[in-house]
Amino acid sequence: MSEVRAAILYCPFCAEEDLHPVEQHGGWECRSCLRVFSVKVLGLAARAASLSATDARRQS
Ligand SMILES: [Zn+2]
Repeated sequence: MSEVRAAILYCPFCAEEDLHPVEQHGGWECRSCLRVFSVKVLGLAARAASLSATDARRQS
């Protein structure tokens, strides 16, 4: 999995596009609503997890 973050296109709070990376927090600053936020991966969807489990069984 790539370590490089893809750019976020829209602010999740105000939907404006004036976003700038905030390196010391690994987050994003919206210069429209002035919120600073980060995007966190919580895990994989159940469907993706079951598909990779199926692949692991096939390979063993
Ligand atoms: Zn915003």
